[in-house]
Amino acid sequence: MRQEQLKELFKKNNALLTGHFKLSSGLHSDTYFQSALILQHPTKAAKLAEELAEKIRENNIEIDVVVSPAMGGVIIGHEMGRALGTSAIFTERVDGNVALRRGFFVNDGERVLVVEDVITTGLSTREVIDSLKSSGAKVVAIVSLVDRSVGKIDFGIPRYSLLSLEVKNYKEEECPMCKNGSIAIKPGSRK
Ligand code: ZN
Repeated sequence: MRQEQLKELFKKNNALLTGHFKLSSGLHSDTYFQSALILQHPTKAAKLAEELAEKIRENNIEIDVVVSPAMGGVIIGHEMGRALGTSAIFTERVDGNVALRRGFFVNDGERVLVVEDVITTGLSTREVIDSLKSSGAKVVAIVSLVDRSVGKIDFGIPRYSLLSLEVKNYKEEECPMCKNGSIAIKPGSRK
């Protein structure tokens, strides 16, 4: 799927909104991405995972297990496991640290594909990688539906995404949309 087609698909499902938003970080932005709104449709989630899986196959990357961070990565991670014929497990945050729980584990030397819905700063992805490495696993690739970092983050590991979004974020006091008199809305809230 081409970038434009993909953007349209996200937009049609309200997963990609343009306007004037106040993000949970407090920053203002002209773009808002909510992957859950497209991933709630299993056939669409499966199709997106298949597209990402294709990138893994065409680069001849072999993996043993998919690991994704909860909550955002769980659904797309699960679909990636289906597409690649592997198991799919997830990490959670426990007392501030990223960890595998629920009896999930990775074996020494196991080849892991880390799957995210969206990568913005890359900090949480880095935590997942570090946690897996400390268990002896080998993270061989990282994929995400959306890359909001525009490729600026280097994990030293092959990384692929379906859609690159150049998103502008502003501190409230520097937001040009606020300066024009527009009021930021908080997406996902009830009002
Ligand atoms: Zn603003």
